[in-house]
Amino acid sequence: MDMIKVRTHCRSCWANCGVIIRVENGGQITGVTGDKDHPRSRGYICAKGAQLVWGHNRPDRLNSYGNVFRARDEDFPALRVAISDAAIFAIADGALALVRSLHGEITVRARIDLRLRPGVVSLSHGWHPANATRLTDSRIVDPLTTQPQMSAIPVAIAPAP
Ligand code: SF4
Repeated sequence: MDMIKVRTHCRSCWANCGVIIRVENGGQITGVTGDKDHPRSRGYICAKGAQLVWGHNRPDRLNSYGNVFRARDEDFPALRVAISDAAIFAIADGALALVRSLHGEITVRARIDLRLRPGVVSLSHGWHPANATRLTDSRIVDPLTTQPQMSAIPVAIAPAP
């Protein structure tokens, strides 16, 4: 049985406490603890945060397919790429692309999107198979709102090996 721990933050209120999520069996969330290394919450989570596992695993919760409505023209996560960038980086429409940031990397299916300007890619969060949170670091937060940086993240893209 495989098990990993993922450092992220609680989205249940504006406090965005740092949490560490235990993930087993290739994707099942089985535990949550406060992140002692989080710069502000320092290990604290409230009762609602402690219920994250229960809330996540509820059969009646809205899942990614419901939450990512605007990008839901297909039932899988897609990295939106401008047509000129697709040509420069040799990424074909529908092919798998590797996305790397300073904090991590993910593999996701690419879609050429004529609405994007060159130099910008777009990926909705909320998908387990291509978890955009892996490209972020919950310790890098906006000082005013304490929201982790979830946009304007420098990334490199390439065809998936
Ligand atoms: S753990 Fe509690 S206080 Fe912290 S963000 Fe979640 S709901 Fe808010």
